[in-house]
Amino acid sequence: MSRKFVRFFAHLAAMVLFLSGMVYGQKIKPDHTTRVRPDPSIKAMINEVSAKNIEGTIRRLVSFGTRNTLSSQTDPNRGIGAARDWIFAEFQRISTGCGGCLTVEKQTFTQPKAARVPQPVEITNIIATLRGSTDPDRVYVVSGHYDSMCNLDATDTTCEAPGANDDASGTAVSLELARVMSKRKFDATIIFMAVAGEEQGLLGSTYFAKQAAEQKMNIEAMFTNDIVGGVTTYKTAPDRQTIRVFAEGVPSNETEDEARERRSVGGENDGPSRQLGRYIKEMADIYSPLFKATLVYRRDRYGRGGDHIPFLERGVAAVRFTEPHEDYTHQHQSVKMVDGKQYGDLLEFVYFAYIANAARINLIALANLALAPAKPKEVTIMTGKLTNDTELIWHASPDRTVAGYEVVWRETTAPFWTHSLRIPNYFFVARPNVPGFHSYTFKEMSKDNYFFGVRAVDRHGHKSPVVYPRPER
Ligand SMILES: [Zn+2]
Repeated sequence: MSRKFVRFFAHLAAMVLFLSGMVYGQKIKPDHTTRVRPDPSIKAMINEVSAKNIEGTIRRLVSFGTRNTLSSQTDPNRGIGAARDWIFAEFQRISTGCGGCLTVEKQTFTQPKAARVPQPVEITNIIATLRGSTDPDRVYVVSGHYDSMCNLDATDTTCEAPGANDDASGTAVSLELARVMSKRKFDATIIFMAVAGEEQGLLGSTYFAKQAAEQKMNIEAMFTNDIVGGVTTYKTAPDRQTIRVFAEGVPSNETEDEARERRSVGGENDGPSRQLGRYIKEMADIYSPLFKATLVYRRDRYGRGGDHIPFLERGVAAVRFTEPHEDYTHQHQSVKMVDGKQYGDLLEFVYFAYIANAARINLIALANLALAPAKPKEVTIMTGKLTNDTELIWHASPDRTVAGYEVVWRETTAPFWTHSLRIPNYFFVARPNVPGFHSYTFKEMSKDNYFFGVRAVDRHGHKSPVVYPRPER
């Protein structure tokens, strides 16, 4: 039988199934969890992540003695300048390995005096961009901070500040992902980044996020890896094979009107960053059965912050990756021995195999995001009529890679999406009064009793994160 015939019958069968589903309304038996056939190219990339390379990066970064943002910019061996130049050269070397596929830049700015900046100082972010092939204006950012500090006074520029965990580990993740992912093509653009000034008050990431917002860069997701070293003192902890993903619920940049609307109908658990967190966990569960992503429903740990925050404040969905247990004797501490106990963020307290797993979770999420179509836009739940039917509408994506959409739902008390229904593109009926939109109606399934969402899917099964609908009368 020719391929054309096979395809015709497949479509016919799908149509019959779909129409019977429409007739029986919610009696359709949806997948309990959204099923994805793992993509072999993503599996191959997972295997290419190397703990050895990560170890090499961290050893090198630690060898600069201190990477305090206020330390020497010109000494070739010690200080932040030496680290900056080495990271820049590494990204360039990776780019040479892929035929110049990365654009590697130093983004330098002068930071004026601030709380932890006694004199104006130059701060440099290193940015390596892998341009997307079909949708280059859609951008994903993965970042770590390469600056370090030794004790509670972030302005001490001469003390030993190895910063092996905080945050050579996160910087090593950015470099390793660039090495592995630059050998492939993705629909969307990926930026691999190492920023400075984090310990001085998120200065490098704030500058980048501000510039990106001014240039109207469409960043659909941002990851910061900060303290992903898998500290060795917790090597035998029962939840060792996990990484925490901190994802806020209510958006940091929510307006008063949005807050009012949210209070009236819920949605505190459904902001874009929370959806991104769910996505990371969902993809990690599919591709990484042994090492898990644990979603934490908060922006960050108590009293702490990270480079995702300036992005959140500008409306970008962003999460923070951090090891499951932290050992505060090896963070922001001077290197010292007290009563036979070693303090300091030293090389010997990070675990390279753990960091490789952390990198793999990042890779799984990033690759799926950048291979999938963009999130559906203008997703709306119609609330004008008192009815037990639920109507969702969303903008018909102009992206030719979109093969269809998936509507998802869950009980209002459920933490994750529990049900989904795949709707191929060709079944859509454009709303007659709203051209360019798709709609789907759940018969006798009340919007008051469930949370709903919509995501886009391509023909290989790559999925976008879920978009939670805005109510409209
Ligand atoms: Zn840090």
